[in-house]
Amino acid sequence: MNRPPSSAAQSGQWERWIADELELVRSSDRHRSRQLVRPLDAVHVEIDGRRLVNFASNNYLGLTHHPAVIDALREAATSHGAGSGAAALISGYTPAHASAEGTLARWKGTQAAVLLPSGYQANLAAVQTIAAIAQGRGGVRFLIDKLCHASLIDAVRATGASFRVFPHNHLTKLERLLGEAGEGTAQAVITESIYSMDGDAADLVGLSALRKRFGFIWLLDEAHATGVYGPSGSGLAAELGVSDAVDVSVVTLSKALGAMGGAVCGSSAFCEALVNLGRAFIFSTNIAPAMAAAAEAAMGVVQREPQRRQRVRELAARVRESLAMPGDSPIVPVILGTETAAMAAAFRLREWGMLVGAVRPPTVARGSSRLRITLSCEHGDEEVAGLIDAIKSLGRSSLQATGPA
Ligand code: PMP
Repeated sequence: MNRPPSSAAQSGQWERWIADELELVRSSDRHRSRQLVRPLDAVHVEIDGRRLVNFASNNYLGLTHHPAVIDALREAATSHGAGSGAAALISGYTPAHASAEGTLARWKGTQAAVLLPSGYQANLAAVQTIAAIAQGRGGVRFLIDKLCHASLIDAVRATGASFRVFPHNHLTKLERLLGEAGEGTAQAVITESIYSMDGDAADLVGLSALRKRFGFIWLLDEAHATGVYGPSGSGLAAELGVSDAVDVSVVTLSKALGAMGGAVCGSSAFCEALVNLGRAFIFSTNIAPAMAAAAEAAMGVVQREPQRRQRVRELAARVRESLAMPGDSPIVPVILGTETAAMAAAFRLREWGMLVGAVRPPTVARGSSRLRITLSCEHGDEEVAGLIDAIKSLGRSSLQATGPA
C-alpha cells in the first residue's frame, strides 16, 4: 500500500513548487510586486522620496481627497464605528447603508441598489444571482465580451453554467450567438460600458436593440463610466439614453467616486433576489458604513460639480488627439507589444516624474503589453502637456496606439 509522504516531505515539495513558480513568473518578465506609494493629494504621490504626477489611478474626478467626501467618511466613522461588524443580513446593515443605497438608486434611475464591499464582489454576486434564478428552470447561457473584467469572467466560470465569449465589441458575432441558441434557452449578455484596459466604449445602443429582439438579461458593468459620463454623471447608458434597457447595472465606488466598494443596481425584485441568492453578498461582512457615507457624499459632488467630468473628458480628448486617438475616455492605452517594452517605457516616464501603469499579460493579451494612462480632472494643464511631450519623446516610431472610440 502506498503511504502518503511525510508532512516534512510534503512541505518541502510545496516550497520547491512555490520557488519554481515564482522563477517562471520572473523569467517571463511578468513578476509583480507592490511598491510603497504615499499619496500627497489626488494626483501626486511620493515614491522612494520622489514626488511624481500620478497618471496611474482611477481617481478620475479627484474625489479621494474632496473635503465633502472625507468629512462624510469621518462623521460616519464617528457615529457608526469603523466597520459593519457583520454581514448585511445579520446586523451589518445600518442607516448609512440604507441612505447610500437610496441615493444610488435615485441617481441611477433604478428601483433599488445593493452595496457590496468591492466592485469585484458586486460582479460576482450579480452573476451568481442570475445563475441561481435560472437554475432549475433550464439554466442560463452567458454571452460575455472577451475584454470583460476578470471579476466577470471568474464569476461566469464559477457558476458552471454554459457560456460563450464573443470577440470584443463584435455585435454581429453576438447576434449570431444569440440566434443559434435553442428555443426557450435563457441567455444573459455581459458587457462593460467603458473597457478598463482599452478605454473604448461598447455600442450600448446596438446592445439595447439586440436586447429588444432577443429578450436576454443584460448585465452592464459601468465601473469606468460612473462619474464620467451621463447628464448627472451616472454612466454611459444614461448619456446614450439606454438606461431602461439595462437589467443589472454594476457600479464601483472605488474609481471616480473616490471611495471603496461596489453596488448592484436594478429592479426591486432583482435586488431582493441578490440579497437572497448572491453568495458573495450573503457571506461577506457588509461594506464599512463610513465608506457607504463617503460614496453617498461623492455622488452629491458628482451631481453638484459637473465641471469635474467635463474637465477630465476634455483633458482625455487632448491626450488622445496627440496620439491620433479619437474619443474622450480618461483611460488612454499606448500599446507597446512586449512586457519589456512596456516596463522600460514606464521606467523612463518615472524618471521624468510621471507614474504611469505598465499593464502586462495576463491582464491584457500576449503581445499587447501597454502603458495605461489615466487622467483626472485635478491634473494641471502643464502636467498634461508634459505627459504628451514625454510620450512623444519615448520614440513615436516604437509606439503603436490603438484607436478606441
Ligand atoms: N469592473 C471593472 C471593469 C473594473 O475595472 C474593476 C476594477 N479594476 C472592477 C470591476 C472591480 O472593482 P473593485 O476594484 O471595486 O473591486
